[in-house]
Amino acid sequence: MQLKEYEFWFVVGSQFLYGPEVLKTVAARAEEMASKMNESGALPCKVVYKVTAKTPEEITEVVKEANYQDACAGVIAWMHTFSPSKMWIDGLQKLQKPYCHFATQYNRTIPNEEIDMDFMNLNQAAHGDREHGFIAARLRMPRKVIMGYWQDEDVLARLGAWMRSAAAVAFSKSLKVMRFGDNMRNVAVTEGDKVETQMKLGWQVNTWPVGALVEEIHAVTEEETDALMTEYESLYDMATENLAAVRYQAKAEIAMKKMLEREGCKAFSNTFEDLYGMEQLPGLASQRLMAQGYGYGGEGDWKVSALTAVIKAMTEGMTGGSAFMEDYTYHLENGNEYSLGAHMLEVCPSVAAARPRIEVHPLGIGGKGDPARLVFEGHAGKACVVSLVDMGGRLRMICQDIEAVKPIMDMPNLPVARVMWRAMPDLRTGAECWILAGGAHHTVLTYDATPEMLCDWARMMEIEFVHITKDTTPDALERELFLNDLAWKLK
Ligand code: MN
Repeated sequence: MQLKEYEFWFVVGSQFLYGPEVLKTVAARAEEMASKMNESGALPCKVVYKVTAKTPEEITEVVKEANYQDACAGVIAWMHTFSPSKMWIDGLQKLQKPYCHFATQYNRTIPNEEIDMDFMNLNQAAHGDREHGFIAARLRMPRKVIMGYWQDEDVLARLGAWMRSAAAVAFSKSLKVMRFGDNMRNVAVTEGDKVETQMKLGWQVNTWPVGALVEEIHAVTEEETDALMTEYESLYDMATENLAAVRYQAKAEIAMKKMLEREGCKAFSNTFEDLYGMEQLPGLASQRLMAQGYGYGGEGDWKVSALTAVIKAMTEGMTGGSAFMEDYTYHLENGNEYSLGAHMLEVCPSVAAARPRIEVHPLGIGGKGDPARLVFEGHAGKACVVSLVDMGGRLRMICQDIEAVKPIMDMPNLPVARVMWRAMPDLRTGAECWILAGGAHHTVLTYDATPEMLCDWARMMEIEFVHITKDTTPDALERELFLNDLAWKLK
């Protein structure tokens, strides 16, 4: 499903105490608020007003329906009047969808002349939302609390960002990952418990033989290949004479896409150690599929592949870009320190600063033919890098704030796409924190998903979230990790 096809159900809490007139006004206002929020254009998905709930039965009923409907990606609750929260226990305990408590108020200001006891009986969100907040806290529910005026741009932006994270939960729960080959031999961080991951995140991670892909590549026609070559020439500079190598990547792209579509997979992984029967490691082919929204992980890294797909789904329609990334090498000049991110081939061109070039160079490992790949610089801007590791019994997401820059040198002999950045709080402290937290060398670099969106997603998925910011110190982080470890053992 596309982002705009998802609905968020607006459930407004009340009770019978106030009489039918007040309840009619509450319902009319809720309807009005939903349509004005939709008309604002600030939200990526639709708000659908469902009910002014006055009884436990009404609450339970709307939750059961929300759980059942695929189009419903979450519930937004707001208490216009006071809604006694014991009425909400059964419904909230049954809720299986992301849940946002939107603490807002119909009127922006206190009307000096108009405020009287009738006004007070109708406009009770300030205490109604506190009663509601308590029961969710008491139930230890994962939730998002957003407070602010419902017509303010920044408030709607936060609600919209949460909707993206919630829609990515729905995406995650049906995500299938196609693996070609296993993980790179002896590597630890790309391993993980696939059963536990499917239980938590919904990811279905399964393997297909490289031989099946080889057969599929051989079955691609010259006409199909010609058509894709024409597309390549329109989008990229063909900076190679070796068109045969480029044509092979076109065939690999077509073949992998056919297999992914046939199996309903939105992410894939492969490894240079298992390319039996293939002429090249897919470089250009993997980059192209990522640009179309597929997740990818090198060296059999299915976790980063699925995470790339999830973040791409979360940020659908945004323009900064998100890419599979690897910490490659450092520039450790004092006071002018940078990380250089790249991969042996596969960086998504969605992060490119300018039109990419198609180049063909030897790979140096794997013993296959020279692969075609897209070469470009990543653009400057605020971003973050995200890693997902399996701590044994739980998953940990680690997110680090970064500032991407135009690479400070042109590195004319580096034959792969590259992104350069300053890690927060600084390269040395940031790298110490990352290593303390066990963060992988593979990440998703995203200019679009904010740490808040990623934290919301992790919270909805009930996995650990660690954030390295401009204020993080290794001491504080070590204490946080130690306490997290204790807390997660109790869960
Ligand atoms: Mn790698």
